Amino acid sequence: MKHVNKRHFSHEHVLVPLEPDDDGEEITCNGCKGEIDEQFYGCIDCKFCLHEDCAEAPRSMEHPSHPSHPLALHATPTYPSQTFCCAACGKVGKGFGFSCAHCSFDLHVSCSDMAPTLFDEDEHPHGLKLVCEPDKLTAELVCNKCCLPNEGYWVYYCETCKFAVHVSCMYSDDDDDDNDGKEEEEEEKKEEEDQKKEKAINSEIFDNEEFFSLPPPSSPSLSSLSISRRIQGTEREKDQIARQLLRDALNAAADYVGTSHTRRRNKFP
Ligand SMILES: [Zn+2]
Ligand SMILES: [Zn+2]
Ligand SMILES: [Zn+2]
Ligand SMILES: [Zn+2]
Ligand SMILES: [Zn+2]
Ligand SMILES: [Zn+2]
Repeated sequence: MKHVNKRHFSHEHVLVPLEPDDDGEEITCNGCKGEIDEQFYGCIDCKFCLHEDCAEAPRSMEHPSHPSHPLALHATPTYPSQTFCCAACGKVGKGFGFSCAHCSFDLHVSCSDMAPTLFDEDEHPHGLKLVCEPDKLTAELVCNKCCLPNEGYWVYYCETCKFAVHVSCMYSDDDDDDNDGKEEEEEEKKEEEDQKKEKAINSEIFDNEEFFSLPPPSSPSLSSLSISRRIQGTEREKDQIARQLLRDALNAAADYVGTSHTRRRNKFP
């Protein structure tokens, strides 16, 4: 990061390079609304801050995932809902985004800059290629992490093994750097217990003929996500219920992130 002040179209004052405090209080980016944990640009008087990547995102770009039109950087989504659905990760965006107004095509700033290839031996023994149009792949895709079928969002893919992981699942791992070995052991034990419990619940669900004829629950809850993960099979009805449950859970999660961010105050060094 260059240690120079910066002007940005989304803020009226000059932004200066700043470092997050050591006190661990969370700083939220006024651009993408995500958390900031490294050097950033900020206006101290207004407590306005931007990730370096958000501050330096170009005003417009050509992106290979949308070759027909250039994408323009919008500081706020221009839809009546003031949100957008990212074509890459399928998650809601409430701040900066690259947008084609003509096609209602939108990308998070971070999603616009994903590595075209990825090699992570823990993930897969071969290099993975970013596929922006998974519908064009001949193999039927199921994400190796969330076990849900492809809904058209981007995946990292190994052609040889037909191995696919949603980009959103690839980058959603919890950071466990702070854990020491003991905590990890305990977590493993807990995971085993959870799996046992889940097996028991699974057999309850599948033994219950009535389960699949129930309508989807009207109030979204995060626990519905784990239920949707347990639902396997190809019957159309099951599939529809699973998709509805997932949508509910994602909406609930997006709402939760929104309110928790608005509650937080930004802290400056
Ligand atoms: Zn940002
Ligand atoms: Zn300011
Ligand atoms: Zn995205
Ligand atoms: Zn377009
Ligand atoms: Zn996935
Ligand atoms: Zn492979």
